[in-house]
Amino acid sequence: MENIPSLPLVAIVGRPNVGKSQLFNRLLGKRVALVDSEAGTTRDRIYGEIGWEGTRFQLVDTGGLIAASTALEKGMMKQLSAAVQPADLCLLAVDALSGLHPADFEAADYLRRLGKEVLVVVNKVDNENLLVAAAEFSRLGFKKMFSVSALHGLGIGELLETIVSRLPKLEVLSSPPRAVIAVVGRPNVGKSTLANRLLGEERVLVDSEPGTTRDAVTAAFTWSGRPYLLIDTAGAVRKPSSRSAVERYSLNRTHGGIARADLVLLLLEKFHPPTRADAAIIHQALELGKGCVIGVNKWDLPGDVSLRQYRQQLRDLLPYAGFLPLVLFSALTGKDLDRLLQTCEYVIAQRERKIQTPVLNKVLQVAQKQTPISAKDGKRLKILYAVQTGASPPVFRLFVNHPRLLPAAGRGYLTNQLRRALGFEGVPIKLDLRPAPPAGNKQSVVKATEVPRI
Ligand code: GDP
Repeated sequence: MENIPSLPLVAIVGRPNVGKSQLFNRLLGKRVALVDSEAGTTRDRIYGEIGWEGTRFQLVDTGGLIAASTALEKGMMKQLSAAVQPADLCLLAVDALSGLHPADFEAADYLRRLGKEVLVVVNKVDNENLLVAAAEFSRLGFKKMFSVSALHGLGIGELLETIVSRLPKLEVLSSPPRAVIAVVGRPNVGKSTLANRLLGEERVLVDSEPGTTRDAVTAAFTWSGRPYLLIDTAGAVRKPSSRSAVERYSLNRTHGGIARADLVLLLLEKFHPPTRADAAIIHQALELGKGCVIGVNKWDLPGDVSLRQYRQQLRDLLPYAGFLPLVLFSALTGKDLDRLLQTCEYVIAQRERKIQTPVLNKVLQVAQKQTPISAKDGKRLKILYAVQTGASPPVFRLFVNHPRLLPAAGRGYLTNQLRRALGFEGVPIKLDLRPAPPAGNKQSVVKATEVPRI
């Protein structure tokens, strides 16, 4: 498995028309941003990923920093601050051709107030004569200044070198992780708070305003002496019409996070029953064969919630997911965090289990005897032989007389019986039905390579 780092974020900030988009493109090395000479035409925040001298980071072009008077401008400023706040480093872009501008001082003050580390990037230094003009920007009060020409690509290498020297180094795991856990859930349920607690430092931004976690971040943590990878997704599931490019990006990251995980930890919160968005996440995770645990966060908040009622609401929304463990905890105080992790580890182990063939066949025989399964055409379904052909997630191959005729209820009955006898809490079970071989030839249908060594 690759060692997936958590990506630091660098934000380009500055008044309109100083060449932020061009700088973004030049740093990225390919044209992805909208560049226009008219002020304020870069409409959205645009993100890119850069690899340089063994470090990778994300770059965001924040659009124009403007004095906000209209509602639209205020909205733009809000967007901008959401992009800037989580940044590890800010590039304050200014324009050598037009010289120091009052808005440059405003931008400088804004970044200072946020306590950001700032590199001043004096753009449009297209020839040596302009170097002199660039010097006046020292009045902005930042130590590090760079003269560049985004248009001609001058000074970019030096700037990149300084950027990477200021960013946190990539994490490399010394041993392979035990498992990858994706923390998913609606905005504000406490994903980042949990991530911060597990990772032991403030690595991910936490804010009470929804949607401020910038990205899916992967980082390593150790629990009970074993290393795990944690994917903290900004799981914004919103109305399609209100999705900005960045929100779509986050949503993709949620899906991507689930796909990369062994275990999906869905967070809910006290007083907020699960929604369809939560059900959709669980559905997707189970479809992809992931282990699932539901953690109900903020259980430290005062006020009563009937646990029975909560479970019932869950069952109503996710009738097919009664086998998922539910843990009440508090990411803020750490209460029952150990129990949450124990449960995650338990489900990860369940997903890896391999059942011996005689045991499996015994369970299925008993199940058939207890309740005969009728096939869709009224005939009886007979399971002649079964074997586990896959683990993580478990797949059971059943050789039956009528593979195409098993109704959903019969499938449900069989998986329930397997769960009752064998466990597999929190893990989706896949049944792979095949036509039974001619009598006396049951071994020949399972290729040696398909049978796990158990
Ligand atoms: P995210 O959007 O899912 O990453 O949510 P955050 O981690 O940013 O948390 C949103 C808000 O809920 C913040 O104000 C947190 O301090 C608060 N919060 C998170 N976990 C808990 C908890 O266990 N108990 C309480 N009382 N508040 C919490």
